[in-house]
This record gives sequence, C-alpha cells and structure tokens, in this order.
Amino acid sequence: MRAVAVSPSRKEVRVIDHPEPRVERPTDVLARVLEVGICGTDREIARLEYGTPPPGQDHLVIGHESLVEVVAVGADVEGLAPGDLAVPMVRRPCPSPACAPCRYGRADFCNTGEYEERGINRRHGYMTERIADESRWFVPVPAELREVGVLVEPLTVATKGILQAWELVKRFPWLQLEALKGREHGARAVVIGAGAVGLLGAMALRVRGFDLWLWSLEPEDGPQARLIEAVGGHYRSTAGRPLAGLAAEVGQIVFFFEATGAAPVAFEAMPLLAPNGAFCLTGVPGRKGPIPVDAGTIMKSLVLRNQVVYGTVNAGPDAFRAAVGDLGEFVRRWPREIGSLISSRHTLEEVPGLLARPPAGTKSVVRVGS
Ligand code: BGC
Repeated sequence: MRAVAVSPSRKEVRVIDHPEPRVERPTDVLARVLEVGICGTDREIARLEYGTPPPGQDHLVIGHESLVEVVAVGADVEGLAPGDLAVPMVRRPCPSPACAPCRYGRADFCNTGEYEERGINRRHGYMTERIADESRWFVPVPAELREVGVLVEPLTVATKGILQAWELVKRFPWLQLEALKGREHGARAVVIGAGAVGLLGAMALRVRGFDLWLWSLEPEDGPQARLIEAVGGHYRSTAGRPLAGLAAEVGQIVFFFEATGAAPVAFEAMPLLAPNGAFCLTGVPGRKGPIPVDAGTIMKSLVLRNQVVYGTVNAGPDAFRAAVGDLGEFVRRWPREIGSLISSRHTLEEVPGLLARPPAGTKSVVRVGS
C-alpha cells in the first residue's frame, strides 16, 4: 500500500510501500482514506523541523487532517458501519497513570508531553491508502459533508478555542448565555490571520452570532476579503497599518482569535482587548529571536481589565463533534464559500513536490481514494 513518509535520517520525503493495516481487536475500525489536508505542521515536518517517527523506525507516515470511509469493523464496534464517513482524531493518550487529562479521555490537555499524534509525533499518520484504529478515535461525519469533511480537523483548532472561551464566559453570571446561543448578539470578535484556521474560525464565530472582523495581510479586494464579506463579516488588511487604528474602528473587542503564528502581531493586538475579554492564541511561532514587547502595558491591562490570554492545541471529542456540526451549518449557509477553501487537489505522488514548494491557496488536499 502507498504512503507518503518523511525520513529524518535520509532527509527526504517520498512515496513508500507501507504495510496494510488490519482489524486486530474487536473494537477496531478499518477505513480507506479518501482525502488528506496539508497544513503548516506537515510542511515543518517535511523541513525536518518538527515531528518524530515511531520508536525504532527511520520514517514517519505524515498526514493528520483526513476524511475516511469505513471498510470493516470489529465485533464490538457500535455506531460505525462499512460505508460510513468519519474523521479520525489525531492525538493518543500518554501511558502515565498520573496524567489525569489522558486518563480522563482528554489527551489534548496531556500533562506529560508523552502523548502520540498520528502523522506528527511517534505514530504513523493518514497519508496512506488504508488505516486502522480503535473505534473511539473515529468521529462520524454525515454523507452530505463528503466534499468538505477533510476540513473538520483544521476546524477543530477553532472550535476547541471557542469552547474554551465559552467556559470563560460562564464566569459572568449577568450574561444570559442560553439566550445568546444562535442569536446575532453583536459582540465583537476579531480573527487575526486569513489562513485555513483563521477563515474557518471566522465562520464558526459568525454562526455563533458575533460581529466578526478579520485582520490579515492580504489585500481588501482579494478572495479572503470576499469570503469574509460573504459570510457577513468585515475584512481589513493590516498591510502598513497599526492594529490600534483598526481596533478604533471595531470598538469593544471581547474576543481575539489569533491564527498567524506571528508573535509580534499577537503582542501588538493584546492591549486592544476589551475589559473582561479573552485572547485565544493558536499559532505556533517558528524559531526566531526575541522581540521587543511592551510587557508592562500588557500586564497592566490584563490585571486592571480582568482579561484572559490562553493558548490552545489539538482537540478532544467535544471539539470534533462541534466541528462536524459547524461544518454542516457552513455548508447550509455558505456552500460556495466553504467549498472554495479547498484550493487544490493532488495525488499522493505529487506530495513530495508539493511540500518542497511554498504553499499556494488556502488548503491543498490530497485525494487518496475516491
Ligand atoms: C495539529 C494538532 C497537533 C499540533 C501539534 C497541529 O497541526 O492540528 O492536532 O496537536 O499540530 O503537534
């Protein structure tokens, strides 16, 4: 069976012959891979800056954003049957009995760092023809999402961030939260960055009724701007503009969702957060030197205005289920826009060349099966 693997010892990305997986346990699911998305993490792994092969092996099969179709299930599997679509989760728990989050089923909050991630850290991924794993790692996806289901995993980055923000908002008893759900409440949120995570996060905030602004480097007459306007948000280009000027136009920004990985941008935006606001960081900065930051102003604002800055990584079952629901809502409201996020489709054989070139378009997807 074909797979795309990165070999750190040979410093190469290539299509390899990979062993066929099988249903080994009564709880196992065997699935054929339909599509796999490529993100910045895959590019970092291909540049040998991140990722680790499984113990004792010299290569890692990459791919962690995927959509699969169930082929066979073990005797004890419930809720998934051959022909069903699903998205497999990425992270697997660490073995430590003392790691409460992993033992609780929330490896996305692992305390030890000894977790495994399929296609990233110590476990082969999904950029191959077939995969097998325990059924609890597969999240069912309705057949209507066949064309865009590969976007579920990148969307979980945003849904986990938003679910965490919701937990923070619960500390404000004067907000009638149930009444806010599904309504245009008009609270202002700013997404920074118009990559796949930023655009998906913007759509997720729109369906939750936010007055949504997206700030990014791209021009105001480009496809990112058009998409944001089409989903009822406002787009502003940050090129050559201080963020404080953009914030003055928005007003009270109660939620920032950062999706750039650019530390200078994140720290420039932090003092612009409204009182009681939350600032969610999702980008992972590359290895760059220290940057000057007005730490005193930021600290003062955090304290005097009860603000919360938090990071989020990976996603648990709740975020995966929410992402599947959100994606269904996006397809109902904005079928053309959500489809346009997938900018190109490729074969497995094209992946090594693709990873050697700079990214083009919002999301490149590898079509493995059909
Ligand atoms: C993946 C996450 C993963 C993170 C860190 C991201 O690209 O979406 O699942 O936890 O990389 O390895």
